[in-house]
Amino acid sequence: MILGYLLARAGVDVMVLEKHADFLRDFRGDTIHPSTLEVMHELGLLEEFLKRPHQEMRQIGGQIGDDFVIMADFSHLPTQCKFIAFMPQWDFLDFLAEHGKRYPNFRLQMQAEAIDLIEDQGKIVGMTRRDTDDEQTLGRITQGRMMVTLNRGDYWQCAYLIRKGDFEQIKNRGLEAFRADIVAVAPFLRDRTDELKGWEQIKLLTVLVDRLQKWYRPGLLCIGDAAHAMSPIGGVGINLAIQDAVATANLLGERLSRGTVSIADLQRVQFRRELPTRITQTAQVFIQNRLIRQILGSDEQIQLPWILRVLMRWPFLRRIPARLIGIGFRPEHVNRIFVAEAQGPTVA
Ligand SMILES: Cc1cc2nc3c(=O)[nH]c(=O)nc-3n(C[C@H](O)[C@H](O)[C@H](O)COP(=O)(O)OP(=O)(O)OC[C@H]3O[C@@H](n4cnc5c(N)ncnc54)[C@H](O)[C@@H]3O)c2cc1C
Repeated sequence: MILGYLLARAGVDVMVLEKHADFLRDFRGDTIHPSTLEVMHELGLLEEFLKRPHQEMRQIGGQIGDDFVIMADFSHLPTQCKFIAFMPQWDFLDFLAEHGKRYPNFRLQMQAEAIDLIEDQGKIVGMTRRDTDDEQTLGRITQGRMMVTLNRGDYWQCAYLIRKGDFEQIKNRGLEAFRADIVAVAPFLRDRTDELKGWEQIKLLTVLVDRLQKWYRPGLLCIGDAAHAMSPIGGVGINLAIQDAVATANLLGERLSRGTVSIADLQRVQFRRELPTRITQTAQVFIQNRLIRQILGSDEQIQLPWILRVLMRWPFLRRIPARLIGIGFRPEHVNRIFVAEAQGPTVA
């Protein structure tokens, strides 16, 4: 959608296909990172965007056993917004679609599935949030269990992490045992786990990390998850997809409007975006293997990893994870030819 919007601003004829009738999907992250908010700013959309309902997260914290650790502090980022905004993906996409539709050369086709290439030429599960609850604790880790709780205003959006293939076993132990697991890792939810009345309220979301070797063919370029599926670790997949879109628009925008895109141009997009993707995926897999797998595989009380002890001791170091999560590797900036349109389109 971002790429479609950017190309439309550059005068390219664009058609965005979405196979579903709306953007209401299973939860796959609602984070809008500082670098994406910077892109919104560069496009002149930030002020209007921030008027939409959202929550702002300025720090990332975690409860690890008895210790509370602030792992990232976004307040020093060199960006307009020093926070991650939480906004349902469908609201974000609707916002972009609304803006895209102001350009006569932008078309969004819903319920239109791309099925082949012509080669010739959420549901959200949450628990009521009480005013007396903590503002924001993201990760909660205790013996063998790990849970993420996101403050979404009037409810908690919760993710309980399990090893691949363990869901049936958890179900077989029964709902009461699962409620007890939740209380063990997040005791403040004790008085409301009975809101979970059946397994149909609990949605299994499967995570995958992979990458295409080649992102393009004549006439086709894959970006975002189509080129590299991301894990939710760090909540950076949406950001990376948007950075890909900005880079693609910057590299191809003018050539697309002239109809002169070559394979070498497509290759340039992969060349530019593959390294940040590789680094991010490597970091996700490292955290998965070194931390999450160990926690989920053990009944021991977890010791605070040395890196978190360092962050507790020297708070200024929290700026580093904040930068990696909030901005990422090789942030992209909207090319001047798109920014020139920031005052709004001329509608024919
Ligand atoms: C459980 C989970 C939690 C996550 N949490 C976060 C998070 O907190 N923050 C974060 O940044 N990232 C998160 N991610 C990763 C993030 O969801 C993805 O990296 C991001 O959505 C990729 O964006 P995209 O536009 O490339 O693809 P998508 O968001 O998958 O969009 C592709 C769209 O194309 C449509 N489509 C697919 N096939 C066709 C077709 N043939 N024809 C027409 N339309 C089609 C789909 O319906 C979909 O709407 C999470 C992922 C998972 C699995």
